[in-house]
Amino acid sequence: MSAEKASIAPASNFIRGIIERDIEQGTYKTRTWSGEPGDAAHHSTGAPDTAKIRTRFPPEPNGYLHIGHAKSIYLNFGLAQDFNGICHLRFDDTNPEKESQEYVDSITEMVQWLGFNWKNKHEQNLYFASNYFDFMFRAAEALINAGHAYVDAQTADEMRINRGTLTEAGKNSPHRNRSVAENLQLFHEMRDGKHADGTMVLRAKIDMASPNINMRDPAIYRIKRAHHHNTGDTWCIYPMYTFAHPLEDALEQITHSICTLEFEDQRPFYDWLLERLAEAGLLAHPLPKQYEFARLNLTYVVLSKRKLIDLVEQKHVSGWDDPRLPTLAGARLRGYVAEGFKLFTDRIGVSKADSWIDYSTFEDCMREVLNLSAERRIAVLDPIKLVIDNYPADANGKSQTEDCFAPNHPLKPELGKRVVPLTRELWIEREDFMEVPSKGFFRLVPDGLVRLRYGYVVKCRGFEKDSAGNVTVVHCEYLPDTKSGTPGADAIKVKGNIHWVSVAHAYEAEVRLYDRLFKEAHPGESGRDYLEDINPSSVQVITAQLELSLKDAKPEDRFQFERHGYFVADRKDSVAGKPVFNRTVTLRDAWQK
Ligand code: ATP
Ligand code: MG
Repeated sequence: MSAEKASIAPASNFIRGIIERDIEQGTYKTRTWSGEPGDAAHHSTGAPDTAKIRTRFPPEPNGYLHIGHAKSIYLNFGLAQDFNGICHLRFDDTNPEKESQEYVDSITEMVQWLGFNWKNKHEQNLYFASNYFDFMFRAAEALINAGHAYVDAQTADEMRINRGTLTEAGKNSPHRNRSVAENLQLFHEMRDGKHADGTMVLRAKIDMASPNINMRDPAIYRIKRAHHHNTGDTWCIYPMYTFAHPLEDALEQITHSICTLEFEDQRPFYDWLLERLAEAGLLAHPLPKQYEFARLNLTYVVLSKRKLIDLVEQKHVSGWDDPRLPTLAGARLRGYVAEGFKLFTDRIGVSKADSWIDYSTFEDCMREVLNLSAERRIAVLDPIKLVIDNYPADANGKSQTEDCFAPNHPLKPELGKRVVPLTRELWIEREDFMEVPSKGFFRLVPDGLVRLRYGYVVKCRGFEKDSAGNVTVVHCEYLPDTKSGTPGADAIKVKGNIHWVSVAHAYEAEVRLYDRLFKEAHPGESGRDYLEDINPSSVQVITAQLELSLKDAKPEDRFQFERHGYFVADRKDSVAGKPVFNRTVTLRDAWQK
């Protein structure tokens, strides 16, 4: 698959159609809701569910959320909002390893940052799957009692071999026909710690010849002596994900269980399991249904938890919230905005076809949102001095200070203008002066004219260089009748327009220029180690000269630095009166080939 801008799926969402149809047909009308998750008996005591649909976002607390998860969050919470439903935040914490409170905390923080909440009118729909372990155990017993599950003691290797292949049926386990009583006893022994880790599993008894390998008696419970962040050492057996997930959905009366495509082959087991438990009376119809969509694949980033962990642990980045990481914590520190995520999710749509989205599509969405919301400010990132030699000064050589007026937002005149003081000595960008101009260069050149944005037209009269040959000072004279906004200011036409900051009024600040963490669209493609594709210049820390008003920026205040891009006051490293800025995104994409 290649990353082409044109490959963006149309912004349609096939799941909407499914929900509309379900609502129209009243598929879930008879559902009752007891106010909290529970089995059929529990929900039967409840009133008809006022939520038209229930969806859930079910992260496993084993890592930080990333941009891919944002798509799932917008999908699940967004659909619930649009259809008068409720979306649950459920921690899928049934695997005792690798899960921790640190991840739980960051996930709840990020879901809220994106603008969603699990607090609904009368209830808090924040759930932990590990609170359902008792029910899961009961569900397993019910399967055993109905002859739908058995305890297998084959070794892992034997099980793998006997599972068969895509072209060959599997072989029945020699333990497949144990009696119900024996299975119950062994399963209880598993729970009671009478057997060593890995010696036995409980398996669903379905069909070892099924063309779908997931239906060949999948394991549903395993023995694992591991401490769990919520249930401690209560359990030494844990349910398998494919068994746990449908049950979690059912207990929570989820109507539309939306997941990524890799679970498509699990859907028959999802349905099989819930049907068997409905037969056993533990669950009631209508049962949840699973729908799969294509996960987000984004160029120039890695979204695999394992790779993200590597990047953090091997210190290629400063931490989980490094602004170059595609984690939501990193995105926030970088200055990306929640509304930009929403725009992005709407724009890429939801489909069943796998595709790659170019990172610039994501950045364009951020630019669009920031262009509307961010006030403009002036910043000189690579300063050299410009001296207006004929600018009025007093007898001691102290320059006059004159007010110039810069609009805070060109698209929003109601935001007014602010004063930017002009003096004799200014900071300008090094790249805005060229001793020997290249073709098409319309800014400052020897003897050339340029407009100081919001100020006067100046003419270059000379320049100074240091011993290394770098220009350090440009000398100009200004044309007094050309001040922007005064009558006749345009009498002299100039092609270039450059920004500046008065040296006497500048705020010298640290600015971090972030760029893409990977220099290749598909890190690790064609067998390369993805770490080799790291962009060696993904961050540049500079000392810039900013207009003085930026000194008062509060953490997370966002601005467009004119002609440069969008910047945010860093929420961790800024102190009052001394903010540092992170570049969120440049004004234009420099990566398009
Ligand atoms: P793991 O490999 O640990 O399962 P995961 O990225 O799937 O990693 P989960 O915590 O299981 O992490 O994900 C929570 C939800 O986010 C799931 O419903 C999953 O399908 C969805 N999700 C994860 N990655 C993406 C992605 N790239 N695009 C869209 N949805 C995603
Ligand atoms: Mg997952």
